[in-house]
Amino acid sequence: MRYHIVTFGCQMNAADSDWLSRRLDSFGWEKSPERDAEVFIVNTCSVRDKPEQKVYSVLGRLAEHRRANPRAFAAVGGCVAQQIGAGFFKRFPMVRLVFGADGVAQAPEALARLAAEPGLRLSLLDFIEHYPQRERSYPDAPLPAQAYVSIMQGCDNFCAYCIVPYVRGRQKSRPAGDVLAECRELTGRGVKEITLLGQNVNSYGQDRGSVSFAALLREVCAVPGLARVRFVTSHPKDLADEVIAAFGECQNLCPSLHLPMQSGSDAVLRRMGRKYTARDYLGLVDKLRRARADIALSTDVIVGFPGESEEDFLQTLDVVRQAGFDSAFSFMYCDRPGVAAAKLTPKVPEEVKAERLARLHEPVEALAEASLAARVGRRCRVLIEGPSKRAAADEASWRGRDEAGRTVNLDYEGPLDLTGKLVSALVREAKRHSLRGSVEEVHD
Ligand code: SF4
Repeated sequence: MRYHIVTFGCQMNAADSDWLSRRLDSFGWEKSPERDAEVFIVNTCSVRDKPEQKVYSVLGRLAEHRRANPRAFAAVGGCVAQQIGAGFFKRFPMVRLVFGADGVAQAPEALARLAAEPGLRLSLLDFIEHYPQRERSYPDAPLPAQAYVSIMQGCDNFCAYCIVPYVRGRQKSRPAGDVLAECRELTGRGVKEITLLGQNVNSYGQDRGSVSFAALLREVCAVPGLARVRFVTSHPKDLADEVIAAFGECQNLCPSLHLPMQSGSDAVLRRMGRKYTARDYLGLVDKLRRARADIALSTDVIVGFPGESEEDFLQTLDVVRQAGFDSAFSFMYCDRPGVAAAKLTPKVPEEVKAERLARLHEPVEALAEASLAARVGRRCRVLIEGPSKRAAADEASWRGRDEAGRTVNLDYEGPLDLTGKLVSALVREAKRHSLRGSVEEVHD
């Protein structure tokens, strides 16, 4: 069968789609462009605004393909599938499978069954109590140099604005032995960088009473031959001192951390249910910088949470400046159905949210530019992802990421295909969102 996957949302969804793809390939199925596919998988996300509309619009487009091939069918997975469930069957005759976060592990077998039994429809929406094990099935072909390894699923925090615990279920940690076995296998197959994935990796193990995240992280960092380790996402309230210390002690733990702050106002943080104060947050930033002076910090900020006053917002601006983030992702608050914040008032008018977002943009951009400018003239180690998108013949030829995850475009005159290689480079120029430099040495 020829299949096509459309993915929305976060790295976890992207990792789920990659896994689905590998598993279907192992059945002898073939990934194909949308126009040629017989099976469509739409992996959805409902964290941001208007997710259902986006999914409906994709399904409307896919329905066109069914005119050419009446046997073509679709599956909808992820957060929106968990919310709407069998409602998709009524609205889109083409949809024959819905699966939630805990149903991903069984989705490939379900798709194979649907291909063999044209009259069937299936739904995999139940939450289960343990981490759903998945077949590893990496292909024999060479693997990319970077990989994601899931260490947990779901979340227990119920932050007031967030839909994740409702659509991805409660926290379930993956057994540490399985995580380590996958990391060893990937490293043995030439993978150089592994990102450990979970909604709140810092609370890893708390549901199983097993090893802590700090202990797991150190074991992953100790996998022989693994050049780089990253992890995402972290909740500030759970960021343990042992994890912070690891940044100073584990050579291959990349000096970068995404630490969602959400607001700099204690009153707003309290209403969000985040369980830390602005002072706690800045204390973590300070400890992280003491553990690893060159750590690059990024964050998420929500503007216009219900009840956010001008004073609250000014506090957020202040904390953003004090924390000196290398980058920040900012969003306007919007009600998600069923979450606690949907009932909170007063709502902040849309035009006020938009104005605050624009005002936040200014310091964020200035900090990001300063952070990139500070790299000029320095050396870094870059893991090459592939050729640069050249706008002109004299543009840099290879693109990769430095230790802190910044995009670096590099000139290189040599004969080698650098994809997947680690190189030493000299940074010569800071662009708006990236660096440019030249390769000095190719390591492997
Ligand atoms: S910790 Fe993150 S995923 Fe969990 S409820 Fe809060 S915002 Fe959502």
